[in-house]
Amino acid sequence: MTLDPDNWTDFRQQSHRMLDDMLDYQQHLRERPVWQPIPQAQREHFTVPLPQTESTMAQAHARFMESVLPYGPGNTHPGFFGWVQGGGTPVGMMAELLAAGLNPNLGGRDQMPIVVERQVLQWVRELFRFPDTASGLFVTGTSMANLIALLVARTRALGPSVREQGVAGNRLVAYTSQAAHGCVAQAMDLAGLGFSALRSIPVTASFAMDIAVLEQTIAADRAAGLQPFFITGTAGTVDVGAVDDLEAIADIAARERLWFHVDGAYGALGMLAQDVAPQLAGIERADSIAFDFHKWGQVPYDAGFILVRDGAQHFATFASPAAYLRRDERGMAAASPWPCDFGPDLSRGFRALKTWFTLTVYGAERLGQMISDTCRLARYLEQQIAARPELELMAPVALNIVCFRYRCGSDDAGRVNADIAADLQESGIAAPSVTTIHGQLVLRAAIVNHRTTEADVDALIRATLMFGASRCATSHD
Ligand SMILES: *Cc1c(COP(=O)(O)O)cnc(C)c1O
Repeated sequence: MTLDPDNWTDFRQQSHRMLDDMLDYQQHLRERPVWQPIPQAQREHFTVPLPQTESTMAQAHARFMESVLPYGPGNTHPGFFGWVQGGGTPVGMMAELLAAGLNPNLGGRDQMPIVVERQVLQWVRELFRFPDTASGLFVTGTSMANLIALLVARTRALGPSVREQGVAGNRLVAYTSQAAHGCVAQAMDLAGLGFSALRSIPVTASFAMDIAVLEQTIAADRAAGLQPFFITGTAGTVDVGAVDDLEAIADIAARERLWFHVDGAYGALGMLAQDVAPQLAGIERADSIAFDFHKWGQVPYDAGFILVRDGAQHFATFASPAAYLRRDERGMAAASPWPCDFGPDLSRGFRALKTWFTLTVYGAERLGQMISDTCRLARYLEQQIAARPELELMAPVALNIVCFRYRCGSDDAGRVNADIAADLQESGIAAPSVTTIHGQLVLRAAIVNHRTTEADVDALIRATLMFGASRCATSHD
């Protein structure tokens, strides 16, 4: 019972309409609200029982156009400032269509899609100046990439027997900063090492890891008989975009013989931008780097990546001798090692294709300029804040994230700024988020989308002043 169309001519016409609708969406994004609340009636279209009978693709498409497309998360829109999320591109969208049509499983075997993934790996090595023996692969995102790095480091520290024996009785401890992403602690949990074995090192005034405290903490742990093994430096913290002193961390890791991992989820691709790359100095000394092509790289979700300097150690952490994964010198079982030897996923989609298209069509220079532009817009926003007495900058701007607030008495400021964020989001004009800096709730604008311009930043400022004035006035009533 085939699932192919009965009538390819009709199917082709309907497919062209779907393609046109998505190209229209991409072309006219700016005319839409950034985000809008989902009407209850639309939600109810997605709480129905399992369909027992057929519908046409045209009917399903109509449901998508009416109920899904207008109520997305907003990150494609130039007025989206909420979180560090990429905007996607029409090129990436079309590549996804090709990837889905070919429908390869990139777990293994001798097939060109894996050759494409290895090509991207080679470009990644080149970008970070890693040797040809470095290994890497696409994963969902940096959360998974950080976990893989931690597992490779764990296997190195405890030896390959840990895979059989588990971690019982180990004394491993790891280090990161208080500004690190929560997935680093989660990785400790998933790796069986536990949150309590992760030291959260305080940050300096610039929100980077305090290197002196890192050294003292390692020394204290050694004195207590523990086994330090892993340091994660962050290149672009999620709250304010701070970059840890990667050179200093690399020195300490080398001296102490610890694994030096970089969580560069969004910041690592700053290597493409001439004015950002110097801030990442030391990243090329890492033992492993986790990052996302779907953030600053603008590749459609999802496209995380893990790069490991010691490919043999990486292989030794994940390779398994299962009979159905048997290798050969010829035929489809050739070209080992396979991606499934480097991570927990066996079935894997063709994330490499949308990334290959993005890097090929735009080229590294243009992508680098786009990244520089987002940082330039962040400095522009910083200047606009400085020029408005109602607004206050709340953290230094290192890359492309600006934390600020509307001034409104000390008691009400938190609630007023939370209201401003929600007012902005519901207005559809601009969508910043909020975070907490030094215990104070602040507005946070992450400029990641390649479509964002000065006019979008101006609109954010204007609307913040408008909602701020009215919220602050009523808060004093
Ligand atoms: C986004 C982010 C992560 C998590 O990455 P995912 O791709 O969402 O899994 C981790 N660390 C930092 C610094 C991030 O910005």
